Amino acid sequence: MQRSTITASEPDEDGHWGQFGGRYVPETLVAPLDELTKEFTRARHDADFWCELDQRLRDYCGRPTPLFHAQRLTAHAGGAQIYLKREDLSHTGSHKINNAMGQALLARRMGKRRIIAETGAGQHGVATATVCAMFGLQCIIYMGAEDMRRQALNVFRMRLLGAEVVAVNAGARTLKDAINEALRDWVTNVHDTYYLLGSALGPHPYPLMVREFQRVIGREAREQILSATGHLPRALIACVGGGSNSIGLFHPFIGDQSVRLIGVEAGGRADSLGEHAARFHTSVASGGGRIGVLQGTMSYVLQNDTGQIATTHSISAGLDYAAIGPEHAFLHDSGRAEYICASDAEALEGFTLCAELEGIIPALESSHAIIPAVRIACELPQSDAIIVNLSGRGDKDVQLVAELYVT
Ligand SMILES: *Cc1c(COP(=O)(O)O)cnc(C)c1O
Repeated sequence: MQRSTITASEPDEDGHWGQFGGRYVPETLVAPLDELTKEFTRARHDADFWCELDQRLRDYCGRPTPLFHAQRLTAHAGGAQIYLKREDLSHTGSHKINNAMGQALLARRMGKRRIIAETGAGQHGVATATVCAMFGLQCIIYMGAEDMRRQALNVFRMRLLGAEVVAVNAGARTLKDAINEALRDWVTNVHDTYYLLGSALGPHPYPLMVREFQRVIGREAREQILSATGHLPRALIACVGGGSNSIGLFHPFIGDQSVRLIGVEAGGRADSLGEHAARFHTSVASGGGRIGVLQGTMSYVLQNDTGQIATTHSISAGLDYAAIGPEHAFLHDSGRAEYICASDAEALEGFTLCAELEGIIPALESSHAIIPAVRIACELPQSDAIIVNLSGRGDKDVQLVAELYVT
């Protein structure tokens, strides 16, 4: 399929984008997922729901976030004008709050007062604990024991916000294991519990629902760039972990054929399996991303020759996951979006470049998009513009970067 043939990206009734997505879950989760889909569909068409969400995003989360013209970064690249969408200025420091707020409102509508969530680096856990505090909901966060050790400050933050943080000691004791544990809790306590999933992943309706709650990024950016420059940007660039900040930015532009959609995956420290988290990476002799099922959805999954889920590595915990959201798999195969990767070293270079040239310390996840953006801007005329999604701020990463530079 040519890029020009894709003008919309909507799943079918069962949450399939082509062969991707769907719902691969144990029998006991089918009814709760049906109930969730029904309530989400109702809310999606309810103007009052969106009105309350908009108001809370404005008064509590600080939306709309600015679209900033990064003039020194632009001068450094020497080409197209570079604009930064400032999700780093959102309450709690990343785009994760958009989704947490939307789903918490949905949980309230459904009368569920016990909220569970998984977290890797802790950003989604913090966002979830935050909205639960605000709504007075019980909050339980599952987190791998290894991640708890690496992100001790976020664990303390969640506890300050009144959440219970449960250590997961299975597997590699990281994000994938935390999701398994959260799903297990949900199966057991489904009558009073809402599972607040953190990315555009998992079984239907999560990938669709999370996208709808993150679309606010792209809706705002579209309006802001048109008002700033009078025309559409030539490219959008965003890092892709599970895929929520990128799909949120991309989706309102899917019908605009002149706009390139570019996702940046974590290239890690080497090309071999286990050393990166680039699911669309195909130049790897020792295995790589292939179509498969992980945690309830069909997508591209990093696996070895016998189908075992591969371990992954990234300098940024938020991009360190073996699968990618199913809508990205569809956009990839249809050719509408492009996926590239940036290594740990390039992410660090983007991190310091953005700090030094713009006075903005980005999250290490977002930092993956900076060097590719400079490269792309450089190939375009100065009359063009591109938008980089600055999905979060780097305060959480300063310690880690400091240690890297000292040792
Ligand atoms: C979690 C996170 C990501 C990765 O998740 P997506 O769902 O791909 O957006 C990226 N940036 C930041 C700042 C994050 O916290």
